[in-house]
Amino acid sequence: MTAFDTIVGRSAIVTGGSKGIGRGIARVLAEAGVNVLITGRNPDDLAIAVDDLAGLRGAVRAFTGDVSIPADCQAMAEAAVSAHGGIDILCANAGIYPSSRVSEMPEAELDRVLDVNVKGTVFAVQACLPGLARSGHGRIIVISSITGPITGDPGSSHYGASKAAQLGFMRSAALELAAQRITVNAILPGNIATEGLTELGEGYQRAMVERIPLGYLGDPVDIGHAALFFASDEAAYITGQTLTVDGGQVLPEAASSY
Ligand code: NAP
Repeated sequence: MTAFDTIVGRSAIVTGGSKGIGRGIARVLAEAGVNVLITGRNPDDLAIAVDDLAGLRGAVRAFTGDVSIPADCQAMAEAAVSAHGGIDILCANAGIYPSSRVSEMPEAELDRVLDVNVKGTVFAVQACLPGLARSGHGRIIVISSITGPITGDPGSSHYGASKAAQLGFMRSAALELAAQRITVNAILPGNIATEGLTELGEGYQRAMVERIPLGYLGDPVDIGHAALFFASDEAAYITGQTLTVDGGQVLPEAASSY
């Protein structure tokens, strides 16, 4: 038996799996033999992702829903149980990152960021808890960010607050769920080349690459590999922890140090 072999045939949900980091996580999990339910609000994008992820070792199916709506999260969990026989892994990845300075931030935008990124994480976890408890090796992997928990970025104060809030949630949930052998960990991506990042513009991406010691943006599968580790039996004794995957972006004390 080689590393990660025991994960074959398990069932995962990846929220926001139609694009970007979520699709990268779904790809790595399915390549490892996990059956994956990807979610998102746009059914056309989900269909494209299912096509793209067809033929891997694990099956990839889609569910259309909004993580900020509890009933959608319940239906998502039921869909995974009915399609894949249970829920072993939840990757709470769906998230949005609009940009607004504090001085001009519309309340509706603040609400939406918190609804999707924070409440959406909590709702997804709540809906999946019965399945994760039945699994006996439940894994919750929260996709946070370096922005908020470690760094700041002008225009991202609401987003940073939401990403830090996810870590507060993760630590207490890890304690509450340990008795059921459910682990809860978080990944803090740096700047990863996704559809969402592209929307921030070339100038933003160029500025970020200049600050990354490894010299390039991350790929969604880089986050997928970290998620596969947390999802595996090999990571059974790790809970309440964070893993930064950022090409070294948060390391330098000064620009001249690399
Ligand atoms: P992306 O390319 O914009 O993709 C976002 C995904 O989430 C899409 O599948 C989208 O599908 C889905 N989504 C958005 N709102 C949703 C909702 N309310 N309910 C269900 N699904 C929803 O974003 P990304 O860059 O891959 O980011 C994914 C996660 O990684 C986010 O939590 C983000 O904060 C985090 N992150 C990203 C980076 C980066 O550099 N890219 C860095 C750090 C952290 P629909 O629009 O169809 O719903």
